Amino acid sequence: MNINFNKSDGLVPVIIQDNRTLQVLMLGYMNEEAFEKTKSEGIVTFFSRSKNRLWTKGEESGNFLTVKNIEIDCDNDTILIKVIPKNIVCHTGSFSCFGEKSSKGFLYELEENVGQRINEKTEGSYTYSLFQRGINKVAQKVGEEAVELVIESKDDNDDLFKNEAADLLYHFLILLKAKNISLGDIEEILMSRDK
Ligand code: AMP
Ligand code: ZN
Ligand code: ZN
Ligand code: ZN
Repeated sequence: MNINFNKSDGLVPVIIQDNRTLQVLMLGYMNEEAFEKTKSEGIVTFFSRSKNRLWTKGEESGNFLTVKNIEIDCDNDTILIKVIPKNIVCHTGSFSCFGEKSSKGFLYELEENVGQRINEKTEGSYTYSLFQRGINKVAQKVGEEAVELVIESKDDNDDLFKNEAADLLYHFLILLKAKNISLGDIEEILMSRDK
């Protein structure tokens, strides 16, 4: 990796991104030594401009950033590091320096909402009432929605097809929850196949 450390006092900005959600967690700076240390240890060490020394993020708090992937930008003067954060990232107590936790998108938010209805045993919630009827019933519902999707695929009514696809995804999320498996678990399998 050919990083140009000479542009601004030997320091290069480093964007830290959550490997799972892609949320931007913080921004720091690295000199060459910090960068080499980060690569060799697999946890993020910055050069702190206020401390004027190498700063391993988490050195006091224990909230280390484990490196998953390092990329350099188009003109070699900015680093992007995807990490697995331990606990929280910001010293103010918020999850990210740019606010609280965000999800990877609406499907993940929906997964959380489904989980919330079930965990909180929400009165009058369809999600919770289906869940309560047991895993066989939930699985059967997924089967029914899949069949409905198959039936609509033979037609050329895109609206009906899209609605059945949405029904299937939604019930699929309830089944995952009933099995105590997360959408991220499934995504990881798909990602590991995509090599
Ligand atoms: P830590 O590296 O997490 O052990 O925190 C040590 C010190 O570094 C804190 O007391 C803060 O002064 C500073 N610090 C920690 N996390 C951040 C952050 N995300 N952004 C800026 N400064 C931080
Ligand atoms: Zn650049
Ligand atoms: Zn912060
Ligand atoms: Zn349906």
